[in-house]
Amino acid sequence: MNPWVAWNERAGTSMRPGAFCCQTESVGGRLVVLGSCGAWPEPGRACSGFVLEHAGARVVLDLGYGTLPRLLALLGSSAADGIDAVIVTHAHPDHMVDLHGLLRARWFGRRSAAPIPLHAPEPVLARLISLEDDGADVVRRAFDWHPLPAPPQQIGPLRLESMPLPHYLPNSGVRLSAPGLTVAYTGDTGPDPRLAELGRDADLYIVDATDRWQRPGAPAVPSGPSLNLTAREAGEAAAAAGARRLLLTHFWPDNDRQAARAAAEAAFGGEVLIAEEDLEVQLGPMGPAGPAG
Ligand SMILES: [Zn+2]
Repeated sequence: MNPWVAWNERAGTSMRPGAFCCQTESVGGRLVVLGSCGAWPEPGRACSGFVLEHAGARVVLDLGYGTLPRLLALLGSSAADGIDAVIVTHAHPDHMVDLHGLLRARWFGRRSAAPIPLHAPEPVLARLISLEDDGADVVRRAFDWHPLPAPPQQIGPLRLESMPLPHYLPNSGVRLSAPGLTVAYTGDTGPDPRLAELGRDADLYIVDATDRWQRPGAPAVPSGPSLNLTAREAGEAAAAAGARRLLLTHFWPDNDRQAARAAAEAAFGGEVLIAEEDLEVQLGPMGPAGPAG
């Protein structure tokens, strides 16, 4: 069954009033990598986190260990001014623990500001509340929570679609699109046929490439179905989706990232990019002429 169908019939909207009233043109934009590691960060790196900027909108995707200082540097604001929405794929700390730091930045730095829209599965909200001494009310005043997965909705100029993907706890893949631009992100996921739909014809497909088995002696994964991808499987997912470019991310610490690239390229004929902290990927109109960075 097409996973989008039921949601298209119930499409809603989520938009900060007036936030994007005068920014109707433009294609293109950029994606900035805040962190590229899975599980825990390597020295000098951070865990999962990205910033998507397009047509005056700035959306944060995941905030794992070590991403907040990089985000604040990008914003040029210790109070985290300039964020239009935050999306968190799931409640594992390597994807959301710095969301609590962002909460503090807003609570202590901009207490009277409007809450930032937060799109995330419910366990993310529950974990965030559990970290906050002053309780749920503080969280609700800093963030305007919208559950994921959810019907399609607008974040300013960007259409947000989402779907559940298999992981150890609820994980929502997300797809952000506007005319001439589509970026999709798996969060953490095992192999799943829905990955082809999530990244369908995407300009940039950001895919879990944990490759936990790459290094001899790595601790065994829990028994049962695979709930993270190898770089090879990430390449297969991008090929099935018909994506234009693949951005591998969520590398197990100390993995050989060039080996991951080679494994993905064996399965995917498009351009394979390796997530690195502070990498900027230019986003442009769909098609081979779009610039890559
Ligand atoms: Zn993870």
